[in-house]
Amino acid sequence: MKNIILFGPPGSGKGTQADLLMSKNSLDHISTGDVFRRNIKNSTDLGKLASEYMDNGQLVPDKVTVDLLSSELERFPNSKGFIFDGFPRTVPQAQELDKLFERKNMNLDIVLSLEVSEGELVKRLLKRGVNSGRKDDQNKDIILNRIQVYNKQTSILKDYYIKKLNHSFYAINGEREVNLILDDINSIISNY
Ligand code: AMP
Repeated sequence: MKNIILFGPPGSGKGTQADLLMSKNSLDHISTGDVFRRNIKNSTDLGKLASEYMDNGQLVPDKVTVDLLSSELERFPNSKGFIFDGFPRTVPQAQELDKLFERKNMNLDIVLSLEVSEGELVKRLLKRGVNSGRKDDQNKDIILNRIQVYNKQTSILKDYYIKKLNHSFYAINGEREVNLILDDINSIISNY
């Protein structure tokens, strides 16, 4: 089993890379953002709660997100491994993921951090807002807020995982062509 965290600010290409990686590597893709958006579309209670935070570019509370992640894992009992996209985003989430792995006898193998400059992120997200209709990509202030939340609450997880995994933490230049980034990631994964 191979478990990978795809880490990076909003707009760094996590979802794009995760989609391309999952089929080639027979991994299951868990995106907490996608699950929240599915719940919003289906007007569930969870969706209503999540949209209050997502619409403003804030993080959904840890307890709600961890419970969701835990039940998503149950959906793939025969998984050969997971790509976590957009989770964890806070230190408590990372600690809960550690506990979850321990309970399930799973290991975290690789953390890949996609590095993209702030100017490029804003450009990409505004473009995605036009193409995808995602509400939180359509307003520059909300985009900047999400990047600020990432810088304040999420980027500290790099240190957390460098300490925890040492050589299995990889910073990747995410400001290149999609296929070049994918090649780099695939060559890293092939060593595990
Ligand atoms: P994403 O699709 O990963 O960009 O996530 C979109 C939004 O969903 C975020 O701005 C948060 O409001 C919410 N979200 C997704 N994943 C998490 C998480 N791990 N913790 C808290 N909120 C999350």
